[in-house]
Amino acid sequence: MVTMPHSDTLPLQDAQLEHERLTSLINSMADGVIALDERAQVVLYNAAALNILDLNSSMEGQSLGKFLSPIDEENIAVDIVRLIQDTKLPTVNRELRLKYADGSIINLYLSIAPVHLGYGKDGTLGFTLLLRDITREKSLEEERDEFISVVSHELRTPIAISEGNVSNAQLIADRGGDPALIKKALKETHNQILFLADMINDLATLSRAERGTLKLEVEAINVHDLVTELASNYRNDAAAKGLEIRTILDPKLEILSSSELYVREVLQNFITNSVKYTDEGSITIAAKPKDNGVLFEVSDTGIGISKSDQERVFDKFFRSEDYRTRQNNGTGLGLYVTMKLARLIHAQLNLTSELNKGSTFSIFIPNLEPEQAQN
Ligand code: ADP
Repeated sequence: MVTMPHSDTLPLQDAQLEHERLTSLINSMADGVIALDERAQVVLYNAAALNILDLNSSMEGQSLGKFLSPIDEENIAVDIVRLIQDTKLPTVNRELRLKYADGSIINLYLSIAPVHLGYGKDGTLGFTLLLRDITREKSLEEERDEFISVVSHELRTPIAISEGNVSNAQLIADRGGDPALIKKALKETHNQILFLADMINDLATLSRAERGTLKLEVEAINVHDLVTELASNYRNDAAAKGLEIRTILDPKLEILSSSELYVREVLQNFITNSVKYTDEGSITIAAKPKDNGVLFEVSDTGIGISKSDQERVFDKFFRSEDYRTRQNNGTGLGLYVTMKLARLIHAQLNLTSELNKGSTFSIFIPNLEPEQAQN
C-alpha cells in the first residue's frame, strides 16, 4: 500500500531499512495520510486513509477526485482537486463532510499542506493530506454551543426582570412613593434570584454528574419524615396557586438505605415540576415499601405530557412545546439531572401521564449496602 520513494544518498541496505521504518510509521498512524503530486494524483497513502474513504482498492496513480467527494455544510459538493491545487499555505478545514454509500455522513478534518521538494513528478510541488473522522468532536462542540446559548438565554430573562424591578423600586423610593410598591418589586426580584440559584444548583450538579465526581454516601433515611418535610416545604408555593399537597405514607415504611441528598433532590425535582405544571387540583406524594426498597410516586392533576413528549422529558434541555409549559421558567435540565442521580443510586424511574389530566412520576429506590458508596 505505502510505497516510499527511496533515498539516493544512503547505501542500499540503510535505505531499505529507512524505507521500511517510514512505511511502518505512516501505516501505524490513526489519521489518514495521502500524498499527491501537483495534479492531485495519489502517490502514496496509508491504511487509515482507505478506511476513512471506505475503499478497498488501490488509489495509486489516480486522481484523488475519484475517491474523495466531500460536501460542505449546505450539502453542496466541493471540488476537492481545485481546493487542493488552490492551497498555497498549510490549511486545516473542519467544515467538510463525507457521505458514504449507505447514506451515513461523517464530519471530516482535512489538513492540506503543499510540499516543495515533494511528490510531484520532477520532485517539486505536491501535497500531503491528513484526514480524520471528527463526527464525535463536532457533536460535542454543537452540544456545548447549544448549552451555552440555552443557559445564557435562560439567565437573561430573570436578570432582566430583577434589573427592572430593582430600578423601579429605586425610582419609587427616590420619589417617596408607596412602600408597598417597593416591597412588591423587591419580592419579585427575590423570586427571580431564587430561580437563578436553583438553576445554578442544577448546572453545578449536572457538571459534577457528567464528570463522574459525585460522591455517593449511603445513609439511613427516615422516609416518613422526609416526605412530610418536603410536602410542608412546598405547601406555600402550591397554596399560592390554589393547589393542595397531600401525602400517602404506607404504615409499613421502614428506614431506607440510600443517599439522602440525591433522593431529596429527585423528589424535589418531581414536586417542583408538579407545582409548576398544574393549574388546579392537587399534588400527591406517596411512598410505600417495595421489594428491597421504597417506591415513591409524585402525582399531579396538571397539564399532562403527550405520548411523544413522554419519551423525551428526561433528555437534556427538553421542554415541551406546549404553551402552558412555556408560561413557566425552566431549563429542561431538572429531569436530566434526576435521571443521572437515579442511575447513581441504582433507582428506576417511571412516568405515566395523560394530556390535560395529569402526570405521575415514580422512582423505585433500592436499599444500598454501605459498601456501594463511592468516594
Ligand atoms: P423544566 O421544568 O426546567 O423545563 P425538566 O427537565 O424538569 O425541565 O422537565 C422537562 C419538561 O418535562 C418540562 O419542560 C415539561 O415540558 C415536562 N414536565 C416535567 N414534569 C411535568 C409535569 N409534572 N407535568 C407536565 N409536564 C411536565
